[in-house]
Amino acid sequence: MDLKANLKKVRARIANACLRASRAPTSVTLIAVTKNVDAATIQALIDAGVRHIAENRQQVATEKLPQVPGLNAAKRPMLHFIGPLQRNKVKRVLSRFDVIHSVDSLELAHEIGKQAAELEREIGIFVEFNVAGEEQKHGFEVAAATEALAEITKIPRLHVLGLMCMAPYSDNAEAARPYFKALADLSRELREGGHMPAGADRLSMGMSGDFEVAIEEGATHVRIGSALFE
Ligand SMILES: *Cc1c(COP(=O)(O)O)cnc(C)c1O
Repeated sequence: MDLKANLKKVRARIANACLRASRAPTSVTLIAVTKNVDAATIQALIDAGVRHIAENRQQVATEKLPQVPGLNAAKRPMLHFIGPLQRNKVKRVLSRFDVIHSVDSLELAHEIGKQAAELEREIGIFVEFNVAGEEQKHGFEVAAATEALAEITKIPRLHVLGLMCMAPYSDNAEAARPYFKALADLSRELREGGHMPAGADRLSMGMSGDFEVAIEEGATHVRIGSALFE
């Protein structure tokens, strides 16, 4: 694995997708998903200039992340939590992570608000939507969006940054396009309808297999794992 070469390739692919979509390359944040790599590899990413790191399991992150010196330095990268989150793990996630991408129920949103108040901190969140209506997937139903956002945006200390989704698994990146478009449309409708702050315009969508399509459809945060570590 040549981490630096992979990183360079991924950055170039992001830049090209931005070019095709007439977007500034700086409008897309690369989040390195490190769930399948060790502490040394995370440190190597940081040394190579990566400023956003994501993990999807609280317990693994709690064991692994303290072993990464660059995450304990003053100018550390931002830490994103992107996995399914049980309410009893919220406190530990809040004590380490800066942003939570996987807010998929009102109960979870309220628990994050409650724990944030106890820790006397604020937290940026993405609200996850099950845009494809898949049975085994997490996230709010699109039909429940207005109601969900009305409640979530009222919770003190929670700052809704935008919406998040995962496209159904496919070998064909184009198959994901309608779902990314659906999330972008939903975001626009919610903001125009006053159901979500105008500034909550970020879209966390796109992984190794489909991030270029996601960028063409408006992704501002792409979550990339395997393409960096192959
Ligand atoms: C693992 C994971 C990713 C990254 O997937 P890759 O295909 O390895 O790029 C992105 N988002 C979530 C929520 C994940 O769990």
